[in-house]
Amino acid sequence: MSRRVTFGINAVERLTGTFKDLGINKLHIFSGQTKTHEITEKVVLPQISDDIEYEFTPLPEYIDFSYLSKIASRIDHHQTYLLAVGGGTVIDYVKLLANMSKTEYIAVPTNASHDGFSSPYINFLLRTKVDQFFNKKLSQEYRPISPLAIVGDTTLISKAPKESLKAGVGDILSKWVAVKDWRLANRLKGEDYDIYAASFSEMTATMVEERINDLGKNFFGEKGVRALIKALGSSGVAMCIAGSSRPASGSEHLVSHALDMLSSEYGFKVLHGHQTGISAILMMYLHGGDWNRIRTSLKKVSAPLTLRELGIDRDIMLLALKKAQHIRSERYTVLSEGLTRSAAENAIEKTGID
Ligand SMILES: [Zn+2]
Repeated sequence: MSRRVTFGINAVERLTGTFKDLGINKLHIFSGQTKTHEITEKVVLPQISDDIEYEFTPLPEYIDFSYLSKIASRIDHHQTYLLAVGGGTVIDYVKLLANMSKTEYIAVPTNASHDGFSSPYINFLLRTKVDQFFNKKLSQEYRPISPLAIVGDTTLISKAPKESLKAGVGDILSKWVAVKDWRLANRLKGEDYDIYAASFSEMTATMVEERINDLGKNFFGEKGVRALIKALGSSGVAMCIAGSSRPASGSEHLVSHALDMLSSEYGFKVLHGHQTGISAILMMYLHGGDWNRIRTSLKKVSAPLTLRELGIDRDIMLLALKKAQHIRSERYTVLSEGLTRSAAENAIEKTGID
C-alpha cells in the first residue's frame, strides 16, 4: 500500500518534502512525449531540490518492450526510485519498469480518467501485449506493485480534458457493480469476500455521487476533482486490502476489456471510464440493482449515456457482451452463466443505452 498520499491544490510543491520523508535522493523520472513532457519540465522539475540527483526520460507512445528492458537494466535498484508523471499509459510502463528493475515508484497523475495510478495492476490490453512479448514470463512473475507515494495535484488535474475527467466518474461509479459481482461470487461459488475492501470500494463511488449532487455542473472544478482523485486513489487501497482487483473490477470491466479487444478490428477508440460507465448501467440492470442511480450521476456531469455517443455499434456491444463471459473466466460475475442475445438486447433497450 502507498506510504504517502498527497492530494490538493499545488500538491507538486510538496514533492521534495515527500522525497525527504522517504529518504529518496536519486530519481529516474518518466513522462509521455507531449503534454506530460511539458508538465514535467515546467511544473515538476522546478520542484526538485538541487541535492536530488535525477535522470529524465520521456517515453514514446508506442513502446517497444526491448527498449523498456534496456532502460530497466540501467536502473540501480539500490538507490534509484522511479517517478511517473502522466496518465494511465505512462504509469503502467513505470509499473513494468519497477517490476523489471525491482525498484519502487511514485505516481504523479496528470489526469483522473481511471484508477490506474493507484492500482497495483497494469491495464488488461497491455498485459496481453506483455504476455506475447515476454512469452508469459513477465506476466507470470508480475509482482503487483502499488506506488510508494501518490502526489495528486488538483490544480494540474483540473486542467486535464473534461472528457477524461468524465471518464474517471464512469470508472468510479462502476465499483458498485464490481462489489455486487463479488458478493454474487461469494454467495454462489463460496469465493472469499472481504467486507472491508468491498465497503471501501463502494464508498469511493458513494463519495463521488454525493459530490456530484452537491456541485452539479461545477463538479469539474477543484472541489469535485479533489473528490474524484481521492476516490480513484482509494480504489487502489481497496484492491490492496483485498489482495486483488476484485473490489474494483467486475462484469462491467470484463465488458470494457472485450470492447478493448474489439476496438482495433472495428476501428473505434473509447476511454476506459466511458466504457465501464455505460457497461455498469447495463450490468447493474442484470443484477436487478439500481442502474438508474449510476445513470443519474453520469447524466449530471454530462458523461456519455449511450452507445451512439461512444461511437460503438449495438452489434459490437452484443459481441462484447458475449465475449466478456470468456475473459478471466476464473472471475465469477453476473455474466458467467452466459447471456442470451434476446436478454442482452432487452437489457440494452430497457436501460436506454442504445
Ligand atoms: Zn477501471
